[in-house]
Amino acid sequence: MTGRFANVIVDISHEKVDRPFQYRIPEALRGELAVGMAVMIPFGAGNKRIRGYVMEITDRNDYDEQKLKEVDSIVEDGICAQADSIRLAWWIRENYGSTMIAALKTVLPVKRKVKQIVKKTIVCKVDAAVAVRKAEEYEAKHQRAKARLMRGLAAQPVLPQPLVTGKLNVTVQTIQALEKAGLLEVQAQDTYRSALPENLSVSAQGAWQKKQLSENQAGIVDSIAADFKSGVRGTYLIHGVTGSGKTEVYMELIERIIAEGRQAVMLIPEIALTYQTLVRFYQRFGDRVSVMNSRLSAGERSDQYERAANGDIDIMIGPRSALFAPFGRLGLVIMDEEHEGSYKSESMPKYHAREVAGELCRMKGASLVLGSATPSIESYYRARQGEIKMFVLKERLAGGQLPKVYVEDLRSELRSGNRSIFSRRLHALIDDRLKKGEQSMLFINRRGYAGFVSCRSCGHVMKCPHCDVSLSEHTDRYRKVSRLVCHYCGYGMPGVTNCPECGSKYILGFRAGTQQIEELLNKEFPAARVLRMDADTTKSKDSYEQILSQFADGEADILVGTQMIVKGHDFARVTLVGILAADMSLHAGDYRAGERTFQLLTQAAGRAGRGVLAGEVVIQTYQPDHYAVVHAASQDYEGFYEEEISYRDLMAYPPAAHMMAVLVLSGDAQTGAVRARELVGQAKSEFGDARPVLIGPAEAFIGRISDVYRYVFYIKHRDYQVLTRIKDALEQMIHARQWNPDSVQFDFDPMNHY
Ligand code: ADP
Ligand code: ZN
Ligand code: ZN
Repeated sequence: MTGRFANVIVDISHEKVDRPFQYRIPEALRGELAVGMAVMIPFGAGNKRIRGYVMEITDRNDYDEQKLKEVDSIVEDGICAQADSIRLAWWIRENYGSTMIAALKTVLPVKRKVKQIVKKTIVCKVDAAVAVRKAEEYEAKHQRAKARLMRGLAAQPVLPQPLVTGKLNVTVQTIQALEKAGLLEVQAQDTYRSALPENLSVSAQGAWQKKQLSENQAGIVDSIAADFKSGVRGTYLIHGVTGSGKTEVYMELIERIIAEGRQAVMLIPEIALTYQTLVRFYQRFGDRVSVMNSRLSAGERSDQYERAANGDIDIMIGPRSALFAPFGRLGLVIMDEEHEGSYKSESMPKYHAREVAGELCRMKGASLVLGSATPSIESYYRARQGEIKMFVLKERLAGGQLPKVYVEDLRSELRSGNRSIFSRRLHALIDDRLKKGEQSMLFINRRGYAGFVSCRSCGHVMKCPHCDVSLSEHTDRYRKVSRLVCHYCGYGMPGVTNCPECGSKYILGFRAGTQQIEELLNKEFPAARVLRMDADTTKSKDSYEQILSQFADGEADILVGTQMIVKGHDFARVTLVGILAADMSLHAGDYRAGERTFQLLTQAAGRAGRGVLAGEVVIQTYQPDHYAVVHAASQDYEGFYEEEISYRDLMAYPPAAHMMAVLVLSGDAQTGAVRARELVGQAKSEFGDARPVLIGPAEAFIGRISDVYRYVFYIKHRDYQVLTRIKDALEQMIHARQWNPDSVQFDFDPMNHY
């Protein structure tokens, strides 16, 4: 790229530098420098060398040329962003509000190149007979190491260097001496670190057999592929229960797109990205597929990024960030379980991967395929509006019927004197399964809600001194020591025996967490083997997979867990699923609570009866008449959608309208409150004729996290552009007042409340 000036974005997000700065390009770098490159530049009064990214190269200087500083150098190990990535970062910044550098870092999931591993092999330059003769000569001269190596090469003319220096115990000096003598050659080769589990290639052997797609499956593939071939790029939604064959459709589509010379991104929520899923893709596509997930080391990530950029792979599988694989020929993005909350980023910029995927596909001329058993209200709404073409897969292909569902009213349990966490029906069914040797899964929606400690005399609740949330009690089953822990900041203290407020000894934990359920099961069903899966038992690297495979191998009768147990694996012997308190997610206090509850209940219920045995599901609730519960029990998505969309429409919630949350953070309560009010004032002056709805400002639901105070206000409007216009005005004000840009966060169509 030619041009004498470079506009550079500076890699500091907490200072007031979120605009390009212009630099002169020194003679030596002219023609070398390209948009997207990382460069070192002098910055500030002290001309400290800092890193930046080139946004533009131009011949037009905006300032006096003499006053411009010069670009220092190109960062050699820097990842070079493609021009498309920079455009995408710009789009993210415009639509979600953030600094440009934060948006750039989002689209560059790999921050730096990590040197590739060099593999060395030793290649024999003489034929075997000569090698043997040389070996004999060395033996005669008592040069045993040289002799060993030549004998080794006589038997096998190519040897890996580690084998030679290791097993054969030959030093590098000896190897070099023989190389000098012209007997061998050391060849070096760059190799990529693999992102796939080590034992994958072994288990993937035995090869893949093409399945005859059902008529429905084939119809979907043909329709989307025909669109693609004729130049039509669209967004598609596959609504199909788990096990209806969506993944087979995805794989077939990917194959068709690859045949067109294009590449594909397969998005899967991290928690559902199991070993089994990877094996399926690997068996079919071999090493043309790679994976990006949070468990990869920096080196592994960097290599996958390189391979994608070089066109060495056709398919990138992964959660959210796989979207930013630097593919030059992207033709297809597939988003499985598109309703999943984890597709929304929780840190700035708070983008939704579904929307960014839509923009990416527009830029690249690619198609977008969404799939879910319980589509998001957003996607279904768009399908109804005709913006998305929808396909339905109704039957489970691997057999198994839909389970029978019971809704148990916990209020009437209490009236008839049952104070246990288990309704009488659930208790009886667990008992029944234990007798038959079948498996059960018990599921509680959220941790953190449960386990709080309160005084039954005065009502005092034990809270974190920094975060203003209730502490959870954790007890060691064997030693009976209890600790109170904050789930936000990790603050911990010993359990209390007397209320710090009134001294009463009736200060007790609310016993409805996974751990309490496990303990109760051990008490009520002493013979049952119980496994527990929650954030505590899955902290270490592979524990999630381990627990699931233990359960799949029949090493336990009952699996107790949070929502993470409803994803991924199929358990053929699970015939009972119990949802202990459906209400916990119903009362989460935000507009998506009903949708989340419906999804959780439907998916949990879908876990029962995956094999030949029929399944039963028990939903326990204090609100058996709530529409989310009623429609989940009858597995009626349409019915749920109709009620939910009319509620959203009435209340002007997304997708009927749009909502922008503005979160104001400050170490000082007073400052935070004042700034929130000032921002509201500024927003109001921008309203004009658009007249959006304003809620707040108020202290956030969690008013303080790690000693940072939190204030929030919400603005709703049917037109997204009105909200981004207000956001722009607020960003300008933040800039003008020189507030830290990270201290005000924007969240469009938020997934949770603040
Ligand atoms: P989903 O992604 O909707 O959960 P999958 O694609 O994983 O569904 O399919 C569920 C099961 O049915 C898998 O075991 C898969 O191998 C099998 N299956 C899918 N399509 C077919 C088909 N056309 N013929 C036979 N078995 C199939
Ligand atoms: Zn008390
Ligand atoms: Zn805390």
